[in-house]
Amino acid sequence: MPAGRYAPSPTGLLHLGNLRTALVAWLAARRDGSAFRLRSDDLDPAARPEFEAEQLADLAALGLEWDGPVVRQSQRRPRYEEAIATLVEAGATYPCYCTRSEIREATRAPHGEAPDGAYPGTCRDLTDAERAGRERDGRPPALRLRADGVTQGVVDHNLGRTIGVVDDFVLRRNDGLPAYNLTTVVDDAAMDVEEVVRGDDLWSSTPRQAYLATMLGLPVPAYLHVPLVLGPDGARLAKRHGAVTLADRLAAGESPDDVRARLAASLGLVGAGDDASPGALLTRFDPGRLPREPWTFDG
Ligand code: GLU
Repeated sequence: MPAGRYAPSPTGLLHLGNLRTALVAWLAARRDGSAFRLRSDDLDPAARPEFEAEQLADLAALGLEWDGPVVRQSQRRPRYEEAIATLVEAGATYPCYCTRSEIREATRAPHGEAPDGAYPGTCRDLTDAERAGRERDGRPPALRLRADGVTQGVVDHNLGRTIGVVDDFVLRRNDGLPAYNLTTVVDDAAMDVEEVVRGDDLWSSTPRQAYLATMLGLPVPAYLHVPLVLGPDGARLAKRHGAVTLADRLAAGESPDDVRARLAASLGLVGAGDDASPGALLTRFDPGRLPREPWTFDG
C-alpha cells in the first residue's frame, strides 16, 4: 500500500520543528489515502530506545496515529549491505581514505555547482598502489558512490523543481555504519513510500537520493520539504531556546490540542479559534500552499 512516513532519529526529544514536520507528514499521507508509517533512524551511535519511546508517545499525544510496526534501521543492516553489494558489483563505488579536515581543506577551492558539503573526488582515481599505501597507513576507508558529477532533477511539492549535481557521497562510513543517504533510499522503497516529507535542511541531499534510487532500480518518490523552525535569535530551533518540546509546553500549561493548533496556525492551516482537530486539519491541508519561509518560534 502506498505510504507516507516520518523518520526521526532517536537522539533526543522531538522539538516543535520536528513535531510540525511530523504533522505535515501525517496530513500529506492521510490526505492521499496512503498509510502513514514511522521509521526510527536509529543507526546513529547517539540513538537511545528511551528517546524513541518518548518520540512515539509525543506523536500519539498529538493524534498523529501511524500504521503498522515502527521500522528500525538497526534491524535492517543486511538490506543495506545488499544494496551496497549491488553497487560494488556494478563498479560504482570506491574506497575513500580522506579525513573530515582533509575534505574541508579540499573544498575551500570552489568546484562548480556541487551541493553543500560536496566531496571533491580526492580518492576517486587513486591507483592500486596509492590505495595499498593508504591501507598500510591504517586508515579505515569509507565507501563512496562514483557519481562522476552527474546531474539529477527532483520535484518538491512545496519548493518546485531543481536540478542538482550529485557528488560522490558516502555509502558506508569509515566506522562501518551504512550512511544516511543509502539507508533512507533503501528503506523508503521497502516501505512503499510514495512521498517523502521532511525538514528542508535535507533538500540539498535530495538529488543524491533520487539518483541513488535510480542506480538501485528503485522508484524515485515525490518530495515535500517543510521549512525549518527558528528560535528568536534566528538560529535553528534547539533545546537552548527554552520550552520547545511537547513536555515543556504541557508543563507550561498548554494541552496537546493547543500545541497542535499552534503548529497548524504556523502552517497557515487555521486562524485563532478554528477547529484544529486532526480531522479538521485534513480538510484544509494543501501541500502546494505550505509556507516557504521558516517559522520563528518565540515562546
Ligand atoms: N532521520 C532524519 C532526521 O531526523 C530524517 C531522515 C529523512 O526524513 O530523510 O533528520
